[in-house]
Amino acid sequence: MGYYKTFLTKEYIESKLLSNRLLDPKTNCWLWTKALGRSSNTSNGYGILRVNKHNYAVHRLSAWLWKGFSIESKLFICHKCDTPRCFNPEHLFVGSNADNIKDKCTKQRQSKGNQIWTAKLTPLDIQKIDYLITQGITQQEIANRYNIERSRISYIKSRKHWRHVPYGYDNKSYV
Ligand SMILES: [Zn+2]
Repeated sequence: MGYYKTFLTKEYIESKLLSNRLLDPKTNCWLWTKALGRSSNTSNGYGILRVNKHNYAVHRLSAWLWKGFSIESKLFICHKCDTPRCFNPEHLFVGSNADNIKDKCTKQRQSKGNQIWTAKLTPLDIQKIDYLITQGITQQEIANRYNIERSRISYIKSRKHWRHVPYGYDNKSYV
C-alpha cells in the first residue's frame, strides 16, 4: 500500500494523537479532545481524526501505531475501559468474536473501515481528477490527494469505470 505509507506516516499520526490527548488521572484513559463519531451502542462517541477528507477512528489508529494492529483488518478494536473516546493502547484489545464483546466494541469499524481504505469517488471527484490530469499534475500527486491507489487514476484517465461521467470541470483555483 504505497500510497498509504507516503501519505499517512506513523510519525504524523502519532503527533496528531499525542497532541490531542487528555489524560484522565483516575482511569488512565487517553481521552481524544477533538471530533467524536457516533457509536452505535453508547451515547459516548469514539475519537475521529480527519485526514485528507477521510475519517479515521482514533482507537484503531492507536492500535495500529502501538499494538501492531493492521489498520485494514476487519476485526474490531475494543475497549477494556468502556470508554470509546479513549485511545490508550493498554486499554484496547482486538475483538475476535463480535457477539461476546459487543458491549465493549464500537460497531462503526466494520462497516466504514472499508470505505476509508478504498476511498469512494463521486462523479465530481472524477471530473476534478480529469481536470488535474489535464493541468499536468502527476498521477501520484493526485492519488495522494485523494488517498487512493495510483492505478485508479489510470483507470479514471482511460474512463474504464467512469464512462458515464462527462468531462468539463474547469477551475483554475482547484489545482
Ligand atoms: Zn481507557
